[in-house]
Amino acid sequence: MNDTAAPHGLHHVTAIASDPQRNVDFYARTLGLRLVKQTVNFDAPDSYHLYYGDAAGRPASLLTFFPWRGVPAGREGAGMTRATAFSVPPESIGWWHARLAGLGVDVTAPARRGDEEVLSLRDHDGLAIDLVAAEGDTRSGWDGAAGIPAEHAVRGLHSVTLAERDLDPTASMLTELLSMDAGASTAGGAVRFGMAGGGAGAVVDVAPGVADRGWQAGGTVHHVAFRAPDLTTMTAWQHALLDRGVPVTDVRDRQYFKSIYFREPGGVLFEIATDDPGFATDEPLLELGRALKLPPWLEPSREQIAAALPPLRVP
Ligand code: ZN
Repeated sequence: MNDTAAPHGLHHVTAIASDPQRNVDFYARTLGLRLVKQTVNFDAPDSYHLYYGDAAGRPASLLTFFPWRGVPAGREGAGMTRATAFSVPPESIGWWHARLAGLGVDVTAPARRGDEEVLSLRDHDGLAIDLVAAEGDTRSGWDGAAGIPAEHAVRGLHSVTLAERDLDPTASMLTELLSMDAGASTAGGAVRFGMAGGGAGAVVDVAPGVADRGWQAGGTVHHVAFRAPDLTTMTAWQHALLDRGVPVTDVRDRQYFKSIYFREPGGVLFEIATDDPGFATDEPLLELGRALKLPPWLEPSREQIAAALPPLRVP
């Protein structure tokens, strides 16, 4: 890959939750993201796949969940992400702290981390989320959440932090294969990598020196996805990765984007996903997330699939 063919940001982060209703209540009500799609895990359609994002579910705004009822709690560690960060306006950090603390969320007081002010919180399943006061993030987020004035709305993903035993193998993949720029160490001891000039939505932090391996289950991240502009470009990257000896999957049809998957050397599952076609392909933009949507190949089984899923109350 060369610089003109590098991922231009984060596309989405997918994590594992337990109860789907609590997941909706936390992300769509407490954090005020828009539920942009209710569908199922295409590889295991007996459970939901819930997508949250901005008004249109644009790439780099998306956090998605596989809610598996009864899943045990996972454990953070090497080869896992340590935190998923969202961007909020700098003047909104105090408002968010008051809101989250008032709702009984497990949240820290605002703290400086290098140049940034950060709130760290955990959802019901223990998933680590940061809210970063990001200068210059011009995205508008979702202005339709009850009780959250538009000026305070979450703007979109800011970054992910990968916890690793060793920095170098992961850094090599990020810079040499994915054409990211390596920046300076952050205040937390992580090294920051940027795509397309970096900035909110285009940042990966790598925190090395983590001894114990993590365990992927409830409250941990399943994979991190990066943006490809189109299928032709993504297929070219797939071949480039294969040429460099990285095992990569074939192209999967995820209905709202097309994807390939591979692991970075430390163990985190990476995905590359196309920007198109997006979430308004099977329901109107105004109605995103209100009804269960299935891809054409699962539509014949809709009755059995829907019967196995718990009903959801959505905002
Ligand atoms: Zn994904």
